[in-house]
Amino acid sequence: MQRPIPWLWILLGGLLLLAPGAIGRLLLDLAEGLTFLLIVLPLLLGGAGLIGWQLLKRRLHTCQACGVTSFATEVCPACGTMFAADAAASPGSVEAPAIDARNVTINVEAVEVPPVDGQKRSG
Ligand SMILES: [Zn+2]
Repeated sequence: MQRPIPWLWILLGGLLLLAPGAIGRLLLDLAEGLTFLLIVLPLLLGGAGLIGWQLLKRRLHTCQACGVTSFATEVCPACGTMFAADAAASPGSVEAPAIDARNVTINVEAVEVPPVDGQKRSG
């Protein structure tokens, strides 16, 4: 069963859009706004989501012992490892021996490398 084409409504809509009246302008503005919203809203939501995810990621901590990622700041909720202890034991915070670089002399000794078999020395 085929529905008949609603020519009456199409004609009425066309007249409303073409007529220079207030209703036609209102409908055009409405369609314009809806189209703009449909195009711009996903972009806005995507940008907001990206920024939110970056902010969220900054607050997440990954446990060095078990690998669980959480919002906890002191103790891992899964295994109970202290995050502060993890931070102190991380390689980035290992203290180097106190050597003043201005008082250190590095002696470099030049050593001639013997030629490898099958290669000819140039020069
Ligand atoms: Zn853990």
